[in-house]
Amino acid sequence: MIRLDDVIELLGKNHPNSDPDLVRRAYVFSAAAHRGQTRRNGEPYLVHPLEVSHIVAELRLDAASVCAALLHDTVEDTVATIDDIRAQFGDDVAFLVDGVTKLEKLNFNSAEEAAAENFRKMLIAMSRDLRVILVKLADRLHNVRTLTHLNPDKQRRIARETLDIFAPLANRLGINWVKTELEDLCFKYLYPEEYRELAELIKKTRREREQYIDRVIEVLDTELKKHDVHAEISGRPKHLWSIHQKMKISGQGFDNLFDILAFRIITSRLSECYEALGHVHSLWKPVPGRFKDYIALPKPNGYQSLHTSVMGPESERIEIQIRTMEMHQFAELGVAAHWAYKEGQYGLTGKEAADKFAWLRQLLEWHRDLQDPTEFMETVKVDLFADEVYVFTPKGEVKAFPRGATPLDFAYSVHTDLGHECTGARVNGMIVPLRYELQNGDMVEIIRTAGSKPGRDWLQIVRSGRAKAKIRAWLRLEARDRMLRIGEELVEKELRKYNLSLGKLRKAGKLLEAAQKHRFRSEGECLVALGYEKLRVDTLLPDLVPPERLSTPPAPVQEGAFSKVFKKIMPRREGGIVVDGMDDIATVFPKCCSPVHGDPIVGFVTRGRGVTIHRKDCPQVVNYDPARRMDVHWDTQSRQIRPVEIRVYSVDTPGLLASISQSFHSAGVNISAVNCRTTPEKRAVNNFTVLVNDLDQLKRVMAMIEKIEGVSSVERLAT
Ligand code: MN
Repeated sequence: MIRLDDVIELLGKNHPNSDPDLVRRAYVFSAAAHRGQTRRNGEPYLVHPLEVSHIVAELRLDAASVCAALLHDTVEDTVATIDDIRAQFGDDVAFLVDGVTKLEKLNFNSAEEAAAENFRKMLIAMSRDLRVILVKLADRLHNVRTLTHLNPDKQRRIARETLDIFAPLANRLGINWVKTELEDLCFKYLYPEEYRELAELIKKTRREREQYIDRVIEVLDTELKKHDVHAEISGRPKHLWSIHQKMKISGQGFDNLFDILAFRIITSRLSECYEALGHVHSLWKPVPGRFKDYIALPKPNGYQSLHTSVMGPESERIEIQIRTMEMHQFAELGVAAHWAYKEGQYGLTGKEAADKFAWLRQLLEWHRDLQDPTEFMETVKVDLFADEVYVFTPKGEVKAFPRGATPLDFAYSVHTDLGHECTGARVNGMIVPLRYELQNGDMVEIIRTAGSKPGRDWLQIVRSGRAKAKIRAWLRLEARDRMLRIGEELVEKELRKYNLSLGKLRKAGKLLEAAQKHRFRSEGECLVALGYEKLRVDTLLPDLVPPERLSTPPAPVQEGAFSKVFKKIMPRREGGIVVDGMDDIATVFPKCCSPVHGDPIVGFVTRGRGVTIHRKDCPQVVNYDPARRMDVHWDTQSRQIRPVEIRVYSVDTPGLLASISQSFHSAGVNISAVNCRTTPEKRAVNNFTVLVNDLDQLKRVMAMIEKIEGVSSVERLAT
């Protein structure tokens, strides 16, 4: 059984400056908190945190991590609080314990590979510090080591989760020994029959195999020594789970006693790896296609090694891995090696160390020049996946989104229609607004209202490309649909004058004919073009109305006819203008006349952008199609501050400009732009762009300025 002193000794070996007293106090605290608690096997509960702390020390983590391991179950299972821990052990330890406690609450229940990968990422994202995930891994390793005492259902559930989530996670982090041990333990509980068979077979053939291993090692050793290559050579069976997987993939039974052997040659220098490889291949014939150079092309988790298979003694196929000591340490410890080794010990610079972990490269990018491993520790405390957020569906699946994503992104990721009809969401059971920013670990449920539709403002709410594309597509379709209906009604209205109906012309194929004549592929396209005014109705009419009827002059265009069509069709929009009985419609203020609240105004329907608002006396008004004219007036409920251009003619006296701006100021009017010029006759022409609430305020301030001595006239501009 592990003793506390073993843990402290191991910690001291890797971190000579760590404080053993802190660890002792954590032990005492944990012992007191768990007093009276026992595990399923009858042992005192304290054995578990102690064992976990030893695994953490084996991973070469620091004192804070070892303390966190000792304390990791106190907040969840005892009366101790995180504040107690913070008060006694400081922020660092408290942060780690809190992180492990939070991970404890997550349950994974999908075997789907993509979901599992997202869950792994979520674990990392939520831990925010790699030490948290490593303490969690250590916790899981000890739990799986002691699964024996649980009932078979629970054994299988934990083993499944471990095999789906934690073993691959250990692999991703490059910690090989944890990965292999987890896999073999889970194998035993998930497939007890196969496990027992395989274990027995391997046991039965042990003597024979060990002799074979010794023989291979001896041959290799002699050969390498002869060429002055210094290396440690070892050989052993691969771990059971990988043999099992291999048998499953190849579809072969267990008939080869030696194919399951893995030999390792550990050299002291990089060049010796390739030298050793040459000697191996000159001793035994290499199996074609089995050589892999992971030194030149490391695996994503940073693993580096040469792999080759050869036909060894007695023509048995054996696998040989060749790597340097440093590569070997990385293979066993993975990401933990980052801070386990002092910089330079294996000739590694901070940059090279960072390069080893392609998976973490994103994170490490900004501290490439890092010299000190403890500094690395500090920086690992930031979000590891700052760009992504991981949330649960109600079924417990995990989905990944860009950071800042909202329930709308979630809805669109499930189904396009669910996105379109999303009207709200419940997150962890609470109703949230659509703008709510999803947090790691949230459980999201979408509220759907049949028949509701996306809004243009949704484009500002969503973050994911998919949701944006879906909303844009919907808006495009909707705009087209609206224009199609405007086009339809326009033609219908014209046809009525000739006592014709669009429906009948359509059925007779006349509309399609006319459309094709104007180079449209379909009736719809033609009608949309009419709506957008790319095609004028009178251009189309001769193709729809028989010439004899067309000769009868039609009645004059009814003013506002278009607006009636429009009103039926345009959606309600926000704005400070009331459009003839419809409030809240999209409005546009053109540059020409700058209407302000109180000005008599008139509106014109634009092509798909809502209504432009002009002053009634704006010179531009005559240029608009009377059919698109709409009656509009100002909303009495709200005032919008609007820009107005004013021109002041005056004498060119110093100080006059100051008096004018003083007048604006005392009337509560802000000036947004000034432009002054002097004429040859010593007159000044001053243009002001000012922001006013309404016409009254504008008139008041103009009157004030007019009274200033030296000002000859004030006028409001309309171009
Ligand atoms: Mn635990």
